[in-house]
Amino acid sequence: MTGQPHEYVRRELVEPDWRRFPGWAHVTEAQWRDAQWQRAHCVKNAKQLGLVAGGLLTDRFYDDLAADQETFATMSMLLPPHVLNTMAVDARLTPEAFTEAFLADPVRRYMLPVASDRDPLRPSHPHSQRDSLHEAEMWVVEGLTHRYPTKVLAEMVSTCPQYCGHCTRMDLVGNSTPLIDKHKLSLRPVDRQDQMIDYLKKTPGVRDVVVSGGDVANVPWPQLESFVLRLLEIETVRDVRLATKALAALPQHWLQPRVVEGLERVARTASQRGVNLAIHTHVNHVQSVTPLVAEAARAALGAGVRDVRNQGVLMRGVNATAADLLDLCFALQGEANILPYYFYMCDMIPNAEHWRVAVWEAQELQHAIMGYLPGYATPRIVCDVPYVGKRWVHQPAEYDRELGISYWTKNYRTGIDSEDPGVLDRRYPYYDPISTLGESGQKWWEDT
Ligand code: SF4
Repeated sequence: MTGQPHEYVRRELVEPDWRRFPGWAHVTEAQWRDAQWQRAHCVKNAKQLGLVAGGLLTDRFYDDLAADQETFATMSMLLPPHVLNTMAVDARLTPEAFTEAFLADPVRRYMLPVASDRDPLRPSHPHSQRDSLHEAEMWVVEGLTHRYPTKVLAEMVSTCPQYCGHCTRMDLVGNSTPLIDKHKLSLRPVDRQDQMIDYLKKTPGVRDVVVSGGDVANVPWPQLESFVLRLLEIETVRDVRLATKALAALPQHWLQPRVVEGLERVARTASQRGVNLAIHTHVNHVQSVTPLVAEAARAALGAGVRDVRNQGVLMRGVNATAADLLDLCFALQGEANILPYYFYMCDMIPNAEHWRVAVWEAQELQHAIMGYLPGYATPRIVCDVPYVGKRWVHQPAEYDRELGISYWTKNYRTGIDSEDPGVLDRRYPYYDPISTLGESGQKWWEDT
C-alpha cells in the first residue's frame, strides 16, 4: 500500500492572531469583530502597511511594491485588516525571514501583488484586454450584462471593500491606477436599477439574476434589499445570486445584525415565492477560510439563504496544485458550509500572465481533484472564453498545444450576436500563457 496522492486530514479552522502585527498589538476582539472598525482600518497604501507591519517588512518589500504600483498594477490597494491577517500566518520571525514568508504567501500573491511576481519577459499576453470578457459590450442597460440566454449579471456598484490584483472587471472596478484609467458608471444608482428592473420585466426569458458589482457588500443594505425585493416580484425570475467576496474578506459585514435581519426578510420572501436565493463568494486559498468566515456563511444559511457557494480563481503561485485546491475545498465544504462550486481560469487581462495557467494544466488539475469530495461539491474548473462564456476545461473543440491556442464553440447566442447566422458554427480562440509553451511555440509568438 503506497497511500493516496492526497491524504485528507480534518483540520480545525483557526483565526490567525492579528496581534502579531505591531500596529494591531492592542486591537481588541470587539474591535476586530466590528465591520466599521475593519472598514476604517483598511490598508490602502505602503505607508499604512508600514504602520501595521512596523519593522516586520524590509525595504526590499516596499521597493518591490512601489515598482508594481508604478508599472503593472491594474487595481489599487485595498486590504481589510481581516485579509491582511490571513497572510504569513505563522510568521514570528526576523524582518528578513518575515519578508521572505510574506513574499511567498499565496494570499499576498493576489491581494497585494509586487513587481517581482510578474512575468519578467511577457507580463501581458498579446491578446489580453481590459474588458477581456466584453461584458460592457453586452450591457443591455448600463451595468446589466446579458451574455447567456437565461441569465444576466447586474453590476450594482463599481467598488468593493477589498481589491484583488487579478480582478477581471479591472476596467470598471475600483480606483484608477497609474496604468489604468477606470471607466465610470454614469447613471445614478436608482435610475440604473429602475432600468434593470424594466428590462427584466419585459424579458421573461431571463430566469436567473446574478446581483454583483464590484461587491454587493458595498451597496447600502436598504438599497440592496429593495432591489432584490423588486426582483422577487418578477414572476419569471427564479434564481437570485448575491455576489460578495466580502463574505470571506470582510465577514464582519455579513455578521452585522441589521444585515442578517435584512437577509432574513429577503430570504423569507424568496422562499414564499419559490425562488432560489444564494450567496456566491470568492475564496482562493485555504488560509482565507477562518472561523469568522464560517460564522458568516452559517449566519447567511441560518437567515434562510438556500446556499453559499464559492467561485474561486485558479492562479499559479496561489492555488494551482491539486493539494491547494483540495485543502481549500475540504475546508470550505467540511468546516464552513460553503459549496466549492467553480474555479475560473484567470482571465486574459493585462499583466496577468504570471497568474494564468495553460488549459492543459487546468485539465490535469480537474482530473487530479476528482473523486475526493462529494460529487455535488467537486468544483468544475472553467475557462471563460471571450464572446462564448464559461466552458468546462475539457470542452475545447480543438487545441493546438504547440502554439497554446484552444478553440471553443458555443450552443447559444449572446446579446450582441443574436442576428449573426454563423455564431453556432464558429470557433472562438483562447490563449495559453506563452511561458508555458515549448521552444517552437514561443518562437512562433516572438515572430508574430
Ligand atoms: S471582489 Fe471581485 S469585483 Fe471586487 S476586486 Fe475582487 S475580483 Fe474584482
